[in-house]
Amino acid sequence: MSSTDIKTEVEAFLTAHWDSEARRPREGATRDWMQKVFEAGWAVASWPREWFGRGLDKDESKIVLSAFRKAKAPGAGQDRTNITAASLMNFASDEDFKREILPQLLTGKVQICLLYSEPGAGSDLAAIRTRAERQGDDYVINGQKVWTSGARTADYGLLLARTDWDVPKHQGISFLVCPMRQPGIDIRPINQITGDSHFNEVFIDNATVPAKNRIGAEGEGWKVLQTALAVERLIMGEGAGERRQGSSKSNVVSLIAIAKEAGKLQDPLIRQKIAQATAYRQLNALNIARAKEEMAQGSSSPIMSLGKLAMSRILHTDAAVMTQILGAASMLDGEAHERAADVNYRTANAYMTSIGGGTDQIQRNIISERVLGLPREVELDRDVPFRTSRAVTG
Ligand SMILES: Cc1cc2nc3c(=O)[nH]c(=O)nc-3n(C[C@H](O)[C@H](O)[C@H](O)COP(=O)(O)OP(=O)(O)OC[C@H]3O[C@@H](n4cnc5c(N)ncnc54)[C@H](O)[C@@H]3O)c2cc1C
Repeated sequence: MSSTDIKTEVEAFLTAHWDSEARRPREGATRDWMQKVFEAGWAVASWPREWFGRGLDKDESKIVLSAFRKAKAPGAGQDRTNITAASLMNFASDEDFKREILPQLLTGKVQICLLYSEPGAGSDLAAIRTRAERQGDDYVINGQKVWTSGARTADYGLLLARTDWDVPKHQGISFLVCPMRQPGIDIRPINQITGDSHFNEVFIDNATVPAKNRIGAEGEGWKVLQTALAVERLIMGEGAGERRQGSSKSNVVSLIAIAKEAGKLQDPLIRQKIAQATAYRQLNALNIARAKEEMAQGSSSPIMSLGKLAMSRILHTDAAVMTQILGAASMLDGEAHERAADVNYRTANAYMTSIGGGTDQIQRNIISERVLGLPREVELDRDVPFRTSRAVTG
C-alpha cells in the first residue's frame, strides 16, 4: 500500500465516521468511536495486523496520526502514548493475556492505577518490600502501597513487587498487572490539603495475580518500569493537575487577566514577574515538543525529566506571582473571594508536580547523571542482596 493510499483510506474513514466541526463521532458515543478506530487498526497503526495494527512503518504511521490530528479525532497513535498497552505489547509474554487485555486498553474500557510507591520506598523505589510469591499458576501478594492515584476506580493496578530477596534490590523486582477488584485489596482514600482526594493507601493481604499477568521476565520489572516512568514524566511536564478536582475550568489561567482584574497591570514589578513566568511556559512548551519528537523516534530520553522539572517551577512561580498580584486579598478564601480561593488552591496543588512521578530533587539527580554525565550518587546498598540492605534490616 502506498503512502497516498494510506492517506486516502484514513481520511475516508474519518470523513465517514467523525464530525471534525463538532469534534464528535457522527453516530454513537466516544466509546463506540474508540472501538471503531481500534477495529480499523488505526489505534496502533505500527503494530502488526495480527496484533490489532496495520504493520505500518514510522513515516506511514505519521500520515495516520496527522490525519487524526487535523480532524481533531482521538484514538490514533496509542502505540506511542498508551504506555500500559505499549509495555504489555513489548514485554508481556503470555499471548492469551495480551489478546484479552490489549483491546480493553486500546478502547478505553478499563482503568489502570500505578501500584509503585510504598511507605519507605518513593524516591528510592527499588527499596519496595511488597512481596509476590509464586504458588502454582498465581502470585500471592502481601504488602502496602501508598499515594496510589485513581485506585478506587481502577480495574487493574500495575504492581511492582519483590519476587527475589537474595539479589541486589533492582534485580529482584517483578512487574505484574494486578486485578484491583478482589477481596485481598483494601483501598483507603487520603485527603489532601487542597480538599481533593486523588490518592489512596492500598493494603494488600493475600491478593492473587495470575502468573500470566506478569510483564517482562521474573526479576526484570525494573527495566519495564523505566519506560513507564519516562512517559509519566512527560505527561506531568505538560501541566497535569492544575485544576481543582471536578472543575471544568481551563487549566491555564492568564496572569495578565488577573493583574488587570486587580488593577495592577501597570505595576512595573508585576509586569516583570509576568514576563518571566510567561517565558518559562514558552520555553517548556518548546522543550516538550522536543521530548515528544524523541519519543516518536522510540527513545525514552531523560529530556523528559527537564519538562517535568520546568513545569514544577512554572506552577510554583505562577502561584507566587498570582499571590503577589492579589496582595492582602490572597488571605481570603472560599466564596468570600473566588479568585483568592483559586490562587490558594494553585499554591498548594503545585506540589503535586514537584513530588509526583519523582521529586524535583530526583529529577535533578537524573539530569545530572544521565544528561550532564556527572558521577553517580553514592548508593551503599546497590550491589548487596536486598535481604541484607538497610531497607530490610533497618
Ligand atoms: C500527584 C501525585 C501522584 C502520585 N501518584 C502515584 C501513583 O499513582 N502511584 C504511586 O505508586 N505513587 C504515586 N505518587 C507517589 C510519588 O511517586 C512519591 O511521592 C515520590 O516518588 C516521592 O516519594 P516519597 O513521597 O516517598 O518521598 P521520599 O522519597 O521520602 O522523599 C522525601 C524528600 O527527600 C528527598 N530525597 C529523597 N531521596 C533523595 C536523593 N537521593 N537525593 C536528593 N533528595 C532526595 C526528596 O526529593 C523529598 O524532598 C504520587 C505522588 C504525587 C504527589
